Amino acid sequence: MPPTSAVFPVANARCTVIDNRRVNERYRHLVMDAPATVCDAKAGQFVHLLCPPVGADEPFLRRPMSVYRTDPARGRIEFLYNVVGSGTRSLAALKAGDTVMALGPLGSGFTIPSGARTVMVVARGVGFATLAPLVPLAALLGLRIGALLSSRSPEDFMRSEFEQGEAPEIHAVFDSDGSSDVSRVEALLRGLFVRARPDAVFTCGSNRLLVLLQRLCAEFDIPGEVALEQQMACALGVCLCCVRSLRSRDGSIEHRRVCCEGPVFDLQAVVPAAGGGHAR
Ligand SMILES: Cc1cc2nc3c(=O)[nH]c(=O)nc-3n(C[C@H](O)[C@H](O)[C@H](O)COP(=O)(O)OP(=O)(O)OC[C@H]3O[C@@H](n4cnc5c(N)ncnc54)[C@H](O)[C@@H]3O)c2cc1C
Repeated sequence: MPPTSAVFPVANARCTVIDNRRVNERYRHLVMDAPATVCDAKAGQFVHLLCPPVGADEPFLRRPMSVYRTDPARGRIEFLYNVVGSGTRSLAALKAGDTVMALGPLGSGFTIPSGARTVMVVARGVGFATLAPLVPLAALLGLRIGALLSSRSPEDFMRSEFEQGEAPEIHAVFDSDGSSDVSRVEALLRGLFVRARPDAVFTCGSNRLLVLLQRLCAEFDIPGEVALEQQMACALGVCLCCVRSLRSRDGSIEHRRVCCEGPVFDLQAVVPAAGGGHAR
């Protein structure tokens, strides 16, 4: 029997932009006022943003964005995003006081195994935004957290946005100097796993890193989860546009909707995308 989708409270709320500024050439940081229902998001959940029309850009469908940070007490929700097309260009044009309809929180979040004392995150590009909420969560739970963060170049690297005032052990790798090559990342991760085997690994943002982590985590017997960034339309489980293949325990292939059965899945269950490389 396929699992039924969880029932969870979701709001479609009008949120007011507080701030929307450039972090660097590639990424922007959006801060909005939002009702408590939308702010009440777990690490790994996302919201579906109705990007307003701007000039010739009239994004038809909503765009999914991971919740980077929330402050339910102040009614704040934050996103880190990469401007890649009409939807994110429209977000980039938002000014303080503008409003955006946000549907969420949606999807499953990350689960830290009970008894875990050390966790490791492996993020590529905008996967930083999806995995960053694990940093304050680890601090709250008293866990040690290490991070391997892969970016195109030091100019794209969002260290302080990832750290958020905490002190995770960070290993930064870049395309610009070749340190993000999978073989070099493998050597680095092997060294880290031998030195101090983490109790769980979380990843987002790269199919190549997913494949590598599936192999290494099987070898070192480390449980893990991956957050998938699949293009989606309704984000409510109806349109089936975000279906991905997953391996079940008996080895058969099952099809799961990333929007509502994910975006977070067991690391070993996900069938990697064919021929996929790093995400943006
Ligand atoms: C659960 C989830 C969480 C996400 N969180 C973030 C986030 O925190 N920050 C962020 O910057 N982005 C995030 N994304 C990706 C973001 O939704 C897309 O970049 C955005 O929808 C692109 O819209 P656009 O109109 O600007 O670009 P489009 O014109 O729709 O696309 C521009 C290019 O990006 C590619 N693209 C579009 N959507 C995706 C996608 N989902 N995955 C991979 N490639 C895509 C297209 O194929 C095209 O090449 C997330 C996606 C998902 C599914």
